Amino acid sequence: MQPLHLTGLSQAELSDFVASLGEPDYRARQIFSQIHARRLRSFDEMTDLPKELRAKLSEQTTISTLALESRYISTDGTRRYLFKTRDNKPVETVFIPEENRDTICFSSQSGCPLQCTFCLTAQLGLLRNLTAGEIVEQIIFALNDAYGVGVQPPRGTNLVGMGAGEPFLNFEELMKAIRIMKEPNGLHIVPNRTTVSTAGIVPRIRELATIPDRPHLAISLAAPNDELRNELMPINKKWPIDELMAACKMFEKSLKRGERFTFEYVMLDGVNDSAEHARQLANLINRYRLHAKVNLIPHNPAEPLPYQPSPMVRVEAFQSILESKGVHAFIRRPRGRDILAACGQLAARSSPRLSEQL
Ligand code: SAH
Repeated sequence: MQPLHLTGLSQAELSDFVASLGEPDYRARQIFSQIHARRLRSFDEMTDLPKELRAKLSEQTTISTLALESRYISTDGTRRYLFKTRDNKPVETVFIPEENRDTICFSSQSGCPLQCTFCLTAQLGLLRNLTAGEIVEQIIFALNDAYGVGVQPPRGTNLVGMGAGEPFLNFEELMKAIRIMKEPNGLHIVPNRTTVSTAGIVPRIRELATIPDRPHLAISLAAPNDELRNELMPINKKWPIDELMAACKMFEKSLKRGERFTFEYVMLDGVNDSAEHARQLANLINRYRLHAKVNLIPHNPAEPLPYQPSPMVRVEAFQSILESKGVHAFIRRPRGRDILAACGQLAARSSPRLSEQL
């Protein structure tokens, strides 16, 4: 039998488990905070707990299931971690240092079942969904590596569910992980600091809108019309653009003051980056009167993907057309390309700049 993975339990579930051991309830709060606030990686370090309890815990449970296989550090400071789960499935996490706040990009699945033609993760296929505990562990590990065990990030942390996998095809575990991470007695990363990105799983966009303390939403669009989107993102055949936009319209009602949602648009040289595509995109957003912003992402190339990034002048021209039609558009600077850590490059590959084992 697999040992119980404590990192994926809510405080309430941990209370039940602690009660089943015949221990007082305050132990549950203690254990929760040692895992999530102090970010300890073994029971031996939990010296506030009696020895017998620690022995019992290490017999029946575990707090770390992800084994680091390699760590790569980019010339721009971005770090990519490649882990293996207990059943040997790859998981990747990216730590992105930024001027204001650092960002951790986590994965929600090992591999991905979607077949987006511009994304390297698609080549893996779906290996399996990650558990809430495996999602939370990625963040604990990245924080410990970047700042030291238990050290508070000086400027807080943003989380993005933009690593491998389609978060909305693993909705329950994703939302559970987000609830665990918001606990003040734990990591205390509030959903307001978290953005999840979807390729357009329409029913889950609608569901997210009904959740009071929810993360922000980003939608990967990549094309302004069904013909091209069907080709680039086959999920579009199931939920075409009109259905996606209707769901966005509904989601928009749940936006808080000052909150916007984002369309991500990967810029593929000669494929989706013409002036006509820009006009179509602006018209689409304006037709539905969506208060969304657009992030233009220069394509991150990798063998054997058949695309090249659009030249910067074309990305800028695309942005100008959107802006001239009243759509706010931003150009995203690629991070960690040299270590295969940028958007769409996660495929459990080795890369240059392997750093020493921890
Ligand atoms: N499956 C989810 C989460 C992954 S997010 C989703 O599709 O939203 C990954 C982001 O990177 C998406 O916005 C996707 O459009 C973008 N992307 C994928 N491959 C890319 C590539 N090769 N270059 C640049 N961006 C890419």
